Amino acid sequence: MDYVLKWDGQSSVLRVELTYSAHQKDSTVFIFGDPNWGGQADIFKVIRNITSSEPEVVRVDEVNRQISVYHNGANKHTISYEIDGSLPPDLPTRASQTELFRPVISEGVLTLVNKQFALTVTDKSNPLVSFRWHSYPKNFSYFNSIDPSQKSPSEKLSVYYEDLSNAVCFVMGNNISVMEYSVLGVPYFSVTTKEDRYGNDLQGSLIPFFKSYFPSIHRFWNDTDFPFYFLSVTALQNNQTEIGAGGFGINNGFIMKLGRKFGTWEIYVTAHETAHTWIGIKIMFGTDSFDHQWFGEGFNDYTALINLANSKLYDEEEFLNYLNEDNFKQHYQSEIKGVHNDSIAAKYWTDYATYGKLPYRRGLIYAFYLDNQIRVVSNGKFTLRNMLLDLYAIRKEKNNNEILSVDDFITVGAAYLDKRELTDQIARYMIEGQPIDFKTVELIPEFKVEIKNNIPKVSLSENANLLEIYKW
Ligand SMILES: [Zn+2]
Repeated sequence: MDYVLKWDGQSSVLRVELTYSAHQKDSTVFIFGDPNWGGQADIFKVIRNITSSEPEVVRVDEVNRQISVYHNGANKHTISYEIDGSLPPDLPTRASQTELFRPVISEGVLTLVNKQFALTVTDKSNPLVSFRWHSYPKNFSYFNSIDPSQKSPSEKLSVYYEDLSNAVCFVMGNNISVMEYSVLGVPYFSVTTKEDRYGNDLQGSLIPFFKSYFPSIHRFWNDTDFPFYFLSVTALQNNQTEIGAGGFGINNGFIMKLGRKFGTWEIYVTAHETAHTWIGIKIMFGTDSFDHQWFGEGFNDYTALINLANSKLYDEEEFLNYLNEDNFKQHYQSEIKGVHNDSIAAKYWTDYATYGKLPYRRGLIYAFYLDNQIRVVSNGKFTLRNMLLDLYAIRKEKNNNEILSVDDFITVGAAYLDKRELTDQIARYMIEGQPIDFKTVELIPEFKVEIKNNIPKVSLSENANLLEIYKW
């Protein structure tokens, strides 16, 4: 599949021409958009003017987001369409979700990931995919996540179709800045809007990540086996009120949108999203990321939090505040804290306010508890990090089509804790959803917990030092 892309730098329309192979087939079926991703139920409105050339005929099934091309004996196959990257003026962004998961094509700024403009083909007829910009504004900054060292949009970029789903991000614009760093020898790219209405200096705000957070998390995972990594942090283009940041991780990078000044919350989001490189992307259970969000989100959140502490981006107060106020308090006073794990996926996007953060908090609280258990049982010799490194080692031993499972998690955990107890804990706390009773829990001596109105609150014992607890 060869994509040729066109944008004039001004309009909200991306023109796409896709040439593909369809050897000895009567028809080819493409799908556009994924309503499960970001809850974009109307995502098919983004694609329009879908055409092919004679004798081929296009049939569009909007409900199923399917585009069928009947080849009628043609031996060259091209489909053209437009991607409308505008947001309706009467529907300003009220949640970063609204803009984050849609193509943004506006004057001077374009941000795209492949789910927002490329087609899924329903057969294996096209193992290779390429992208090339045919027309684009000269002198605009340009970033691509396939080969970031490639600075010219007109150069062809190639990727295997099977690797496509989370691989492609394009950022282009005259209000875009691209910086390059080296973190433990790994090339890092920082892609931001230059100016926004909040007075942000986003490149400046991100420097502490390149100087300390990323080195910390690479050391946490003993892993510098990366071709490169990138952050794309851009201001929302259509928001009317101040909104904090939201983002998602993709291969070798993460994409964030924000609608206010970059502050403590945005530091957290950046840490959380970039931590997904490991838990959530390289290491996840099963094939549906919704099944075990307690791990993919909650355990990821815990690694982000302790790396914020390790890298000194969060001090003791910020660390405890996040643990207590944003997690223990919110979780233990939540009316739905005890719902079964299976009820989360169904309500996640439709009732994000209530269900969205539940698996994050549930998982983070359990990760904190598990870390303490491993430290207590091993007399401080081991931590959750050791267990996670073992899990990562198992992931690396498996081949790509073998899934990692909760059983693998229990198997590696059995080296540190009683296997039966660990199995029961996961079933009880993570799957059935029963909140952990911190009255009966033993933490390491460095942490104290008091319970008020059924809400646990963690503090540091006298002389305890966060940097001593979380070091690697
Ligand atoms: Zn996440």
